[in-house]
Amino acid sequence: MSKRDYYEVLSVHKNASDVEIKKAYRRLALKYHPDKNQGDKDAEEKFKEASEAYEVLSDPQKRVQYDQFGHTMNSAGGFGDGGFGGFGDIFGDIFGDFFGNTTTKRRPYVERGSDLRYNLEISFEEAALGVETKIKFPRMETCSSCYGSGAKKGTDPMVCPTCSGSGQVRFQQGFFTISRTCNQCGGRGRMVKERCPDCAGRGKVRKERTLSVRIPPGVEEGTRLKLNGEGEVGTYEGPSGDLYVVLSIKEHPIFLRNGTDIICEMPISFTQAALGCEIEVPTLVGKTTLNIPHGTQTGRVFRLKGKGIADLHGYGIGDELVRVVIETPTKLSAKQRELIEEFARISGEDVNPLSKSFFSKVKNLFG
Ligand SMILES: [Zn+2]
Ligand SMILES: [Zn+2]
Repeated sequence: MSKRDYYEVLSVHKNASDVEIKKAYRRLALKYHPDKNQGDKDAEEKFKEASEAYEVLSDPQKRVQYDQFGHTMNSAGGFGDGGFGGFGDIFGDIFGDFFGNTTTKRRPYVERGSDLRYNLEISFEEAALGVETKIKFPRMETCSSCYGSGAKKGTDPMVCPTCSGSGQVRFQQGFFTISRTCNQCGGRGRMVKERCPDCAGRGKVRKERTLSVRIPPGVEEGTRLKLNGEGEVGTYEGPSGDLYVVLSIKEHPIFLRNGTDIICEMPISFTQAALGCEIEVPTLVGKTTLNIPHGTQTGRVFRLKGKGIADLHGYGIGDELVRVVIETPTKLSAKQRELIEEFARISGEDVNPLSKSFFSKVKNLFG
């Protein structure tokens, strides 16, 4: 299918001014606009044809190319447009004042920098109480020689001739208009004549970054701290990515964690348990004394209020749970053995309340 000449489509001279081209297109677009001609295939075709012609002829660079090569440029993906999806900028130009919209300009191609992940191992206490720590990691940063332009000092990047600086080329496939990133400039819209030697024209370089990270009290295994904008620098003035510090927490030799509570198992002797005593127990911040009443059974849990971990979201503070375990003595001396045997002889069932209750239940079971 042969295409009509763009100048013919718009009914303008080969050397028509930009104003004349704009006027011509506006007249046709208003006449054939799909909103005014619903279901009219012929009007739709004319509208598309006029829009395509205008897109090329209104762009000085595309117009020069068209004048030189005609429609053959179209198949190379240089220009050409036809679908209804891609006219935002044209409508902005033409109808901006007409429909009361502000002119929409194509945004230059930018790419957000990558997010980075940093795995940080901290101690149990640091997780519980919070800590400020320094981390060091490599990341891409803006090249300080070319300030990210990628161009050698003293040179400036030029507008890409293939995409006229938009970074995108469009071509028609059936009814659809497809945009793709310009190969010539990689989507940047600008090209560098002489590359910056320090970054090989990339505009960014790998650097070691040292950062102070404040870890709030109450973090858990796998907590992710997000540091906005501390990831890799964006491409072509795009925003930087974020840094995620992912925490893992070392095991503690005596404390276990259960939410905001910490659990500690505390061995005491059977005499301490029987007679009662005062013991020293470790907490996250030093030691405290705990009163063990006489007759304490193994497994009993004592709660130290507020000696646990602060909630990460500010919902109070947990407790420390001290679970006592009564130790059976081993390696008795002759004297110790004698005394315990004596103790056993004079003790009835009454001194052992759990045994008493247990054996009475057994009795009930077997009669
Ligand atoms: Zn550079
Ligand atoms: Zn380009």
